[in-house]
Amino acid sequence: MMDGLDARLWRPASHPEPDTDMTAPLAVASPALVSPARAPLASGEKGSLVGLTRPEIGEQLASIGIEPKQIRMRTAQIWNWIYARGVTDFNDMLNVSKDLRVTLAENFSLKRPEIVTEQISQDGTRKWLLRFPPRGAGRPVEIETVYIPEIGRGTLCVSSQVGCTLTCSFCHTGTQKLVRNLTAEEIVGQILVARDRLGDFPEKSTPVGMAVPSEGRLVSNIVMMGMGEPLYNFDNVKQALLIASDGEGLSLSKRRITLSTSGVVPMIERAGAEIGTMLAISLHAVRDDLRDMLVPLNKKYPIAELMDACRNYPGLTNARRITFEYVMLKDVNDSPADARELVRLLKGIPAKINLIPFNPWPGVNYQCSDWETIETFSDIVNRAGYASPIRTPRGRDILAACGQLKSESERMRVRERLALEAMVTSDDD
Ligand code: SAH
Ligand code: SF4
Repeated sequence: MMDGLDARLWRPASHPEPDTDMTAPLAVASPALVSPARAPLASGEKGSLVGLTRPEIGEQLASIGIEPKQIRMRTAQIWNWIYARGVTDFNDMLNVSKDLRVTLAENFSLKRPEIVTEQISQDGTRKWLLRFPPRGAGRPVEIETVYIPEIGRGTLCVSSQVGCTLTCSFCHTGTQKLVRNLTAEEIVGQILVARDRLGDFPEKSTPVGMAVPSEGRLVSNIVMMGMGEPLYNFDNVKQALLIASDGEGLSLSKRRITLSTSGVVPMIERAGAEIGTMLAISLHAVRDDLRDMLVPLNKKYPIAELMDACRNYPGLTNARRITFEYVMLKDVNDSPADARELVRLLKGIPAKINLIPFNPWPGVNYQCSDWETIETFSDIVNRAGYASPIRTPRGRDILAACGQLKSESERMRVRERLALEAMVTSDDD
């Protein structure tokens, strides 16, 4: 029942309106600035233990004088408190001595991302606008994370970048230039914040009136289908997903995590070998001339190369298939001939096809295919033996559906950013 869940906006009283005066033109993104592997902190900010590997937590503990023989045990305890129990206050780590809890709190943080807004769709989908520190971007950055409750599962759609370097012509995110990559802490932070807000940690209760799955974990599945191209932020995405699937923490099975890529061919094999989650490919067209227009990355990695990379995806079996995503664009890519060519292309690849009705956004020129056209397309693919579910659009009323995500964040001009940083530094003196 969705009673009472009309579209509405929630904003914590203490938070100002999001800064919409972000009109500075973008500087060309320099890799050093957009890839904060270990993100620089503002002076005075305590480093977070969220998003670190176990050895990295160990190093942090060693740096505050924890004895070497205790580090393994303390790391395991802290890991469990952060990821299995969801604590945000070191003082709640009850099997850690009082003195150590105080020392930890003096030196580190477990802070969650700041929630700027929370929107709830008529269908129960939730969208959070989250704010993170600048970390080289000049000013704080914002991204969106979406929770989609269904009967038997709850899927969290997670962002990997602020904006995107790619410019797929039907995608709203593609109109926002890349501001910076998210760190592993910020990617994991999206999962933690969702579990907080949903009451999905043990001993936390779910807020009244919330649309949730009928049983099981509220966040049962993760899809890297939010803002950005995850394979252009490989190291941080890898670290975050290994944390999400760690059996002593968040414990999400890798079969319930899907990484979606627009086709960064050279990284696909590494994704399978080093991350090992399910893979989704944003195919959207079966001819190179059309795919060049819809997904311009195709000019670099054309369809034949992409299909080869899929055939070689480590761990591919009939029980572990690749999902091919196909957005249904009226009179563009939705003919029966396209469907038959799709079947031909996928020959020999354990695959399922996800047909996504196009989700419109302000200013776009495409239209969604008619329902009968989508069904005809689906029938052709089905008859060839492939599952081809049509994805029900969710959260369209709050611009939370596939390809509708975007934030106001823009990179500042280099000159502007340096001036701001100089001001901040002189304030600290
Ligand atoms: N960058 C990654 C993941 C994010 S997009 C990728 O492109 O795969 C998640 C999915 O939504 C992709 O398949 C994307 O092509 C699709 N998508 C983008 N814009 C859309 C829109 N307006 N309507 C429907 N699907 C869209
Ligand atoms: Fe980027 Fe994916 Fe959107 Fe293409 S579809 S612009 S890769 S987020």
